[in-house]
Order: sequence, then structure tokens, then C-alpha cells
Amino acid sequence: MSQRFSFELHSTDGAARSGVIQTPRGEVRTPAFMPVGTAATVKAMMPESVRATGADILLGNTYHLMLRPTAERIHALGGLHKFMNWERPILTDSGGFQVMSLASLRKLTEEGVKFSSHIDGSKHMVTPERSMEIQRLLGSDIVMCFDECPALPADDATVAKSMQLSMRWARRSREAFGDRPGHALFGIMQGGVTRDLREESAKALIDIGFEGYAVGGLAVGEGQEAMFGVLDYAPGFLPADKPRYLMGVGKPDDIVGAVKRGIDMMDCVLPSRSGRTGQGWTRHGSVNLRNARHKDDPRPLDAACGCPACRNYSRAYLHHVVRSDEIIGSMLLTWHNLHYYQDLMQGMREAIGAGRFAEFEAEFHAKRAEGDIAPL
Ligand SMILES: [Zn+2]
Repeated sequence: MSQRFSFELHSTDGAARSGVIQTPRGEVRTPAFMPVGTAATVKAMMPESVRATGADILLGNTYHLMLRPTAERIHALGGLHKFMNWERPILTDSGGFQVMSLASLRKLTEEGVKFSSHIDGSKHMVTPERSMEIQRLLGSDIVMCFDECPALPADDATVAKSMQLSMRWARRSREAFGDRPGHALFGIMQGGVTRDLREESAKALIDIGFEGYAVGGLAVGEGQEAMFGVLDYAPGFLPADKPRYLMGVGKPDDIVGAVKRGIDMMDCVLPSRSGRTGQGWTRHGSVNLRNARHKDDPRPLDAACGCPACRNYSRAYLHHVVRSDEIIGSMLLTWHNLHYYQDLMQGMREAIGAGRFAEFEAEFHAKRAEGDIAPL
């Protein structure tokens, strides 16, 4: 196992890429989907079950963990991997996005962001330096720069000002991160939906130098067309020999479209969150298990899926436990959804390696266009 962080690009097919990230805690096959373990747990899943779906890496949320149970407590207990019983790689976000979306009484300055906790109202300040300290205490393998992301739509002047602040914070993050062999720091490109600003941001980050680069500031309500519009050019501004991470994406068709455009890593709460609301994602689109049409249906959610929910349970059972608010309903559907997402990534990795990504994409859309199997 590698003692250093590195990225090897194995195949390309058009703009799509497949490869592997090596870390001292194991390898991450790319394109990779990272399940979200917000509060040191992927909700409704045991860590060994998450691994069984095929996940190589999890995402942890700095904002949530710093407030509860606190980074210092997790550090004293041996770090986040030991604390949550996940020994493989972990990426942590910087806290910036959730400070802006969840905390109250925020005050943004050049120094950082002051805010009140959404849990108990306690006062906190996160700066690039504090974000690096928190992520070091957690023991994160891939650390994200502290950045600011303006809500879209916003005018160019607002987006430019915010992006330039994030670039100054990226430099401070790099300096505060220091030299930590085996750990990586990723820079985050900002610039909204404006090509010139995206290019300026990429140049600023490359000048500082990072082990990987994220495309930030997307999936914040701009819509898929605008997001793909940015992804048509933005990944090309980044170094080809470093991993590229699209933060907070997405639905299966967003993921396929992002990989097609040169993205290597993604994360989203969608498969786990929708698993707790009775929604299953399959090759044929999404299925609402709450719907009465499943009440007497002995067939699996997806006959082609190898997950426990599909191998061992009927749609009728899933419908029953979802409607009865039984915990196993959340467990089974979360497992299925994460399994489906990892199957999708594996399918894309194989297609890129075989030079048939276009065929894979056409088949992906054709199956979804068919819709769910007909009711009995
Ligand atoms: Zn399944």
C-alpha cells in the first residue's frame, strides 16, 4: 500500500477518465462516488455495509463534526476513522458551505466567518487556519480548502469578489496545511457560471499548487443545463494529472454527465437521504415505494440488482415497512440506493477502460426512458 497520496490516470475516453487514487489507507477507484457520512455515520448503514456496496471512500462534514461531538473530542478518541469504524479513506469538506447554509448570525470578513451554531446557538469562528486544524484533528485523508460560495444567480461582480476571497483563503489554507505526507489538500475552483472567472480561479489555484482540484459552486440551484455548461470547459482548466472533484452532485444523470465531462469524484446525500423517504433509484429511474401499486407486488425492486434489499425482499415488503415507518425500510432502501450508485460508477469505470463510454451513456438513458416495470 502506498505511503503517499498519488493519482494514476489509467484510461480516457473522450473527456471521461478512469484511474486510481492511492492513499496510505487504501485506494480509491475513479470515477468515484463518495457516500456522505455527515455526523460520523452514513445514516441507516453500518460502515461494513457501506463498504459492501463498493464504496472506497466516505465524505465527512466538518461543520457538523466541529459542533458535535467536536474535532478535539474525536481527536482525543483516536481520530474519525477509529471513532466511526471506517478504516478506509475519508474526505472532509471545509465547513464553509454548511456555515453559509445552516448556521445563523453569520458575519463574513477577510479573516473568516463568525456564526452561531444551529444546534445550541453557541458562537464560533472558522478561518482557513481553523478549518485546516479541524480537518487535521479529524484525521481526514483528503482535506478541502476553506472557501466561500455565493448563492446563484448572482451578478458577475459579486461572483468575482467572492471567488477572489476564496483564492486568498486557498493560499492561507495551503500554508496552514503544511507538509503532511500521505494526506492531500484540494483547492476549490469558484467563479459561478462565468467562463473567465472559472479560468482566473483555476490559474490562481494552480499557481498555489494542490494534490487535487474541486469544481465548487455548482449544484446550488443553477440547474443541470447550466451546470453541464460550466463542466463543458471548467475541468479542462485543471491539470490532467490531478483528480477533479465535483462537490455535492448528484442525481444519476448528473453523475453520468459529469463523468462524461472529465470529473473523477463526486459526493451527494441523495441516495442515502432518499432511501429514508421511500425512494429507490434503479436503472429505470426512481421508484416511490410508498405508492399503493407495490402493495401486492412480490417482485424485487430491481431484478438486476445484487443488493440485499433486492435479493431477499419484495416490493410488497418494502412498501409495508416504508408505510409503517419501520427502521428497516430506511436501511434496505439506503443500502439499495448506495449499491446502485456504486454499480453505476463501476459500469462507467469499465466502459471508459474499454473505450465504450458513449454506448454506456446511450444505454443508461434508454433504460431510464423505459421507466419502471409495469404494475402487476
Ligand atoms: Zn438493490
